Amino acid sequence: MDYEIVIGLEIHAELSTNTKLLCGCSAEFTQEPNIQVCQDCLAMPGTLPRLNKRAVEYAIRAGIALNCDISEYSRMDRKHYFYPDSTKAYQTTQQFMALSKNGYLDIDTDDGIKRIGITQIHLEEDAGKLIHDQYESESLVDYNRSGVPLIEIVSEPDIRSPEEGRIFLETVKSILEYIDVSDCKMQEGSLRCDVNVSVRPKGQKELGIRSEMKNLNSFRAAYRAMVYESKRHIDMIERGEPIIRETRRWDDAMGKSFPMRTKEEANDYRYFPDPEVVPMYIDREMVLRLKEEMPELPKEKIQRYIRDYGLPEYDAGVLTSTKDLAEYFEKCIDLYDNPKNISNWVMGDILRIVNDRAIEHSDIPVTPERLIELLNMVDDGVISGSIGKKVLEEMFDSEKDANQIVEEKGLKQISDEGELVNIIKKVLDDNPQSVEDYLAGKKKAMGYLIGQTMRATRGKANPQMVNSILNKELGSRSNK
Ligand code: ADP
Ligand code: MG
Ligand code: ZN
Repeated sequence: MDYEIVIGLEIHAELSTNTKLLCGCSAEFTQEPNIQVCQDCLAMPGTLPRLNKRAVEYAIRAGIALNCDISEYSRMDRKHYFYPDSTKAYQTTQQFMALSKNGYLDIDTDDGIKRIGITQIHLEEDAGKLIHDQYESESLVDYNRSGVPLIEIVSEPDIRSPEEGRIFLETVKSILEYIDVSDCKMQEGSLRCDVNVSVRPKGQKELGIRSEMKNLNSFRAAYRAMVYESKRHIDMIERGEPIIRETRRWDDAMGKSFPMRTKEEANDYRYFPDPEVVPMYIDREMVLRLKEEMPELPKEKIQRYIRDYGLPEYDAGVLTSTKDLAEYFEKCIDLYDNPKNISNWVMGDILRIVNDRAIEHSDIPVTPERLIELLNMVDDGVISGSIGKKVLEEMFDSEKDANQIVEEKGLKQISDEGELVNIIKKVLDDNPQSVEDYLAGKKKAMGYLIGQTMRATRGKANPQMVNSILNKELGSRSNK
């Protein structure tokens, strides 16, 4: 039987506001525990919440970027649960009147553009962090994160494969970075996602029963969880075993999911409107202003790169894959007027090294100024293109600029005619067989002789000159 995989994702993104959602404490990520707390976010009796307007604006910005309707009236609700990560014994969130609804995101898959519905985006606060592994019999709690604003982006169950899920996550992350509402650092937990997976026979209308895995903190883990869980469902159906609606724990080290609890119902949380947080009337003027202030999104950037810089669509897509990489590229463009050449270097060598070494696009150690200096040296014939690639590699490892490296290692291109003629004469003398082969019509021997010349000069010979001198010298030997 053929099965269809159905996936819905819930993405939690910490907003990069200065302060928390309901008090004035700093919302910054810190190492030292419990230094960013106050009577409000510890929920001392008698304290009252003050809603962070900037957090509301950020959430609306995300709603606009994900094509949602922005509610005119919105409210915070209380979701009750009892656990030491919250001193209030409830989370301030939105259950009944989310800020944005009915959006969508178009993702670029191998089968073309696919539209994924966004059910809603709501605003809520983060919980404290429990630390279990320090002492055997005790757990510690760090409340710095308690009350940090989050948005939760809920997708429709429109995703049809783990691969689509991965692309959806990456696209959302890139948009949140572009609109500057979250730094999306997965390793610091500022972006996390819940994965809902079900499976149904192809052609069946009703959705299958789903399981949910919470708080995956890397795209790799989310992808593997989607793959594993959809296979597990299919295996169970094939064996005729019933699938139950449950929350499962994803163990990334083991590459497996384990049952955690059967799904709680919404009414277990006793949701009700928070009577202490002021309700929100979202002024239409404000929505218009936020729309106008919206920075260029990846899709618009791609079009502009194609139009203004004459880049192929493929290049434009790669260069805009993250905001940081696009900024890097645009700084280069300001300094150098051959966009395609920059694109080749950035997409080729820079990204290769960056990927090999798992460097973030925000942390590329070779500044745009230094890259352009290197490109100019290649253009001016000071060094050859292939030496340039080696120099670039070296620039990633040292503080030195291209000029310094070229000087110190004596990598300047040899463009001195007399010097090259002498070197090439010696190469021909040392390789009589190849010369003979070439003159007998085996044109391939030329490649070998070029290689030997490059070897003799440690790659520094000017390639055009090597070609023409070799031709000339070989020609003169054929007359002998
Ligand atoms: P909950 O409140 O329990 O988290 P929701 O109805 O809000 O449940 O749905 C949460 C997520 O689960 C959404 O992203 C939704 O698209 C997804 N989802 C719902 N039903 C299914 C299903 N049968 N298969 C896969 N995903 C589903
Ligand atoms: Mg959920
Ligand atoms: Zn506080």
